[in-house]
Amino acid sequence: MSLAAGIDVGGTKCLGVVIDDSGNVVREVRKPTPTADQLVATLASIVHELGEHTSVGLGVPGLISREGVIRSSPNMITAIEFPVRDQLAHALGETVWCDNDATCAALAEWQRGAGVGSRDMWMVTLGTGIGGGLVSGGALQHGAHGHAGEVGHMVVQADGHVCPCGQRGCWERYASGAGLSYLAGGIAGEAVIDRARSGDVPSIKVLDEFCTWVALGLANIANMSDPDTIVIGGGVMENADILLPRVQERFATMLYAPSHRVHPVLKSAHLGERAGAIGAALLHLHD
Ligand SMILES: [Zn+2]
Repeated sequence: MSLAAGIDVGGTKCLGVVIDDSGNVVREVRKPTPTADQLVATLASIVHELGEHTSVGLGVPGLISREGVIRSSPNMITAIEFPVRDQLAHALGETVWCDNDATCAALAEWQRGAGVGSRDMWMVTLGTGIGGGLVSGGALQHGAHGHAGEVGHMVVQADGHVCPCGQRGCWERYASGAGLSYLAGGIAGEAVIDRARSGDVPSIKVLDEFCTWVALGLANIANMSDPDTIVIGGGVMENADILLPRVQERFATMLYAPSHRVHPVLKSAHLGERAGAIGAALLHLHD
C-alpha cells in the first residue's frame, strides 16, 4: 500500500495530509503559513510530523513553473523566483512533486471527488479569489509553462473594479467571496447570504447579481473548452443550496447556442478544504 503525503500552502494555513490508495485521509497536520524565508523549514516539519509516506506533493498558490519554482505568489509577496520544490526536496532528501494549488484541487476532485468519471472537466474554486484547474481528454492540464487555468483573472468588465493583480475587471473581483462582499457594498458575503435566506429583498438582488457574474465566467469557460463537467468549490459554495440553482439557471441561457448542445453539468465540490492537499498527494501519479 502506498501512503502519499500532500501539503496545500494556503493564505493563512498549511494543511498536510497522508492518503492511502483509496484516497482516504489517514493523517493530517496543520500549521500557520509562515513568511517565505521560513516556508521550506515549515513544510519539512509538516512532512516529518505526517510520518511514514511513500511520496511528497506540494500545492502552492500563484504562478508555479513546471520545475516547481514560485514565479509570483499573491499570498507570499516575497516569494518571487523561489525554487520551493528543489529546496524542499533537498531538505527532505527525497523527490517532491509541485503544482499550483487550484490545479491540485482539480486533480483531487477529478480522481476522488465530484469529477470522478469525467474526461473533460474544470474545477473553479470560489474563495477569497478564484482558482481554476482543468482536465482535458482524460489528462490533467498544466499549460506550456505550468500556468494553465488562471480563470480568476480573465477580464469580464473592461475598465472594471481594480484587482490586486494590477488589471481591472477580473472575474474574481465579482464572482468570489470577496466579489460578493464588493457587490453588497462591503457587507460580508456570509451576512448577505443569511439576509437573503430570511427574505431580505435587497440581499436577494445582490445574490442574483452575484450568481449572474458566476454564470458569466462559467459560460465563458464552457464556450472555450466544452467540458462535460464543471466542479465548483471554495468557501462560498458552502451555500450551494441557494447559489447553485441560480447559477445553473443563468448559465443555461449564456452558453453559445444553448438549445443545440449538451450542457456541461455543474456540480458542487465534494472534498471541501482538503481538496488541495489530497490533489498534491496525487501529483506523483499525474505529473
Ligand atoms: Zn486579476
